[in-house]
Amino acid sequence: MALLKIAEVGNPILRRRSREVSREELLGPTMQTLIDDLIETMRDADGAGIAAPQVHLPVRICVIEIRPNHPRYPEKEPIPLTVLVNPVVTPTSDATLESFEGCLSVPNLRGRVRRHADILVRFWDRAGQEREVRAHGIQAVTYQHECDHLDGRLFVDRVTDPTSFTTWRNYATFVKDSKDVAVPAAVR
Ligand code: ZN
Repeated sequence: MALLKIAEVGNPILRRRSREVSREELLGPTMQTLIDDLIETMRDADGAGIAAPQVHLPVRICVIEIRPNHPRYPEKEPIPLTVLVNPVVTPTSDATLESFEGCLSVPNLRGRVRRHADILVRFWDRAGQEREVRAHGIQAVTYQHECDHLDGRLFVDRVTDPTSFTTWRNYATFVKDSKDVAVPAAVR
């Protein structure tokens, strides 16, 4: 296991479409080690998720985990550790919600983003088994954010109102407890 270096915004690796992984490749030592290292790197950086292109490997693998009382995202509902290989996100309703997102590849910046509120995610787990999960609200946001990385998209691309950009400290000072923050109740 190893901590991997995280690519930051401006690095072209974050803007490429990552390629699909075959089952044979997934089950080999390179991808299995990558998955272990993604998990370790995500936890070390207090991320809610991390995608392979963020550690300079353009393959369609990401991991998500939100433990209760997450240090960076205490407002998020917990998600158990999930490894997503070749994920495909499909909206399951027309509902959307807005929330403040942040990203390990965009240091010290958050911004308000509108996303689908109800989604179905189809993917393989790390053993190559087909899985699917339905997600709603803030949890759905996390899946969409990580899967966006596999298509070279960052949350900053989806911020419709640039005046919402804020540092993490100013988010805590000026935004967190204001009515300006969308929580699951704001789903619409
Ligand atoms: Zn991110």
